[in-house]
Amino acid sequence: MPIYEYRCNQCKREFTRLFLNTREIKNVACKFCSGTNLTRLLSSFAVHQTEESRLSSFDTSKPRGDDFYKDSRNIGLWAKKRTKELGVDLGPQMDEIVERGRTGKILDEYDK
Ligand SMILES: [Zn+2]
Repeated sequence: MPIYEYRCNQCKREFTRLFLNTREIKNVACKFCSGTNLTRLLSSFAVHQTEESRLSSFDTSKPRGDDFYKDSRNIGLWAKKRTKELGVDLGPQMDEIVERGRTGKILDEYDK
């Protein structure tokens, strides 16, 4: 699965896209403003420090107690942070994954 990084020439933000198939590459749009005037960057798998402070200060390596999971927002936050650490943006699929995380199905995979 190719992963490409883009800079949007419209809103000047950068984002990473994971493509599940090569057809999607031709239809990529900015995740922030939906602009299609994009410059593909050469570096892949780069982690940017451009995320909101909540994600930045969130440390996935720290142990998480039961209280952590009582707040379903933390589960989604964790999953998003993990994918961002990997330099992967799953786009709309992320919401699906977060939803699975909040129902507890994804936790087994992440806790290994
Ligand atoms: Zn944009």
